[in-house]
Amino acid sequence: MNSRTLERDDAQLARHWLRDRQRWDDASVVGEYQEAFARWNGSKHAFASMGGRVALSACLHALDLEPGGEAAIPGYTCVVVPNALRFAGLKPVYCDIELDTYGVDVEDLRRKITPRTRVIILQHLYGLVSRDYEKILAVGRERGIPVIEDCAHATGAEYDGRKVGNRGDCAFYSSEQSKVFNTGQGGMAVTNDDALAVRMAEFHERASYPGARRTDALLHNVLLNYYERSHPKRWVTRYWARLRHGHKRLVSTTPEEERGMRPDHYGHRMPAPLASIGLNQLGKIDRFNNRRRTAAAAWDLWADEQGLRKPVRIPDSTPVFLRYPVLGAPEMKRDLSWADQLGVEPGVWFKTHVHPVQEPVSDCPTAGLAVDRCVNLPTILEGF
Ligand SMILES: *Cc1c(COP(=O)(O)O)cnc(C)c1O
Repeated sequence: MNSRTLERDDAQLARHWLRDRQRWDDASVVGEYQEAFARWNGSKHAFASMGGRVALSACLHALDLEPGGEAAIPGYTCVVVPNALRFAGLKPVYCDIELDTYGVDVEDLRRKITPRTRVIILQHLYGLVSRDYEKILAVGRERGIPVIEDCAHATGAEYDGRKVGNRGDCAFYSSEQSKVFNTGQGGMAVTNDDALAVRMAEFHERASYPGARRTDALLHNVLLNYYERSHPKRWVTRYWARLRHGHKRLVSTTPEEERGMRPDHYGHRMPAPLASIGLNQLGKIDRFNNRRRTAAAAWDLWADEQGLRKPVRIPDSTPVFLRYPVLGAPEMKRDLSWADQLGVEPGVWFKTHVHPVQEPVSDCPTAGLAVDRCVNLPTILEGF
């Protein structure tokens, strides 16, 4: 799956940086990106790293949590989330979700909290604003447990006139190639708390930049991504892009990482070339998110016609619709050929409770239903 927000100027930037290797560790470019993101997002502090998962690690470091405790997290997520928690010495405890917005169900969260719960992760999935957003934050406040917002799908989504990620203690975003905006790989951690920001800064100062070989590969991946998935003539350009850049292809999550190992390249801060592409992408997010919303309105009509359960826009929210999720019959998720006649690439986020890994997660029956039945549709479409 690909979010298709890379354009010609992004590819030109990638090519420019492949030629200009002297400035790869120019921190001022990264500072500019972080400031621009913070301003656009309405956050006080922002820190860029090489992945949403790394940004989550930065949030965990900032919160200075006692190791050995538990983390209450959605039982419908990506494996890199529980991994980041385990790397920080915390045990993930899975909470069930609701089927309006696929966020944590606050009632189940209350049941799963124990005296050992050190942090709560709430998620805004598919770009929707979590149904129980306010209630989950209230649980955190009542019990004195910090809340991290997983905004990996929801960059730019708003609730009550403010972007998501600004109400919890801290939040993280992703610019991985399948997310709302695209630097190939990348993430951003934000907070409005000055004390947490000091520790977030410390995390990033200690982190190293990717080595030259990896930065080179990351830039080639931006080009691959553009020519294979976004270029207007991608049906042609993808062939020569594979010949030219294919040998440098990277995967976002390695098989070892899926098995719970921490790869050597984990934990890097973002180098100047990718920050520069991120800055360029930031200027486009609003335009693309408006396109996504228009497409979502069309998918609403389609879902009604098909008799499928639609996602819910909670009152006072403006979702971004990274994908348009619907609940159908399990056969619809098992055999995706129905999408051929629509001419779109259907998504299966999430195939398991901790996608894509078959980790046994008990006591999350509603999440199990989403695992069996939720398919999602792209929202960057031709002609919208
Ligand atoms: C993709 C994703 C992440 C991690 O983001 P990366 O940039 O890939 O590290 C975290 N949470 C959710 C829900 C995601 O889908």
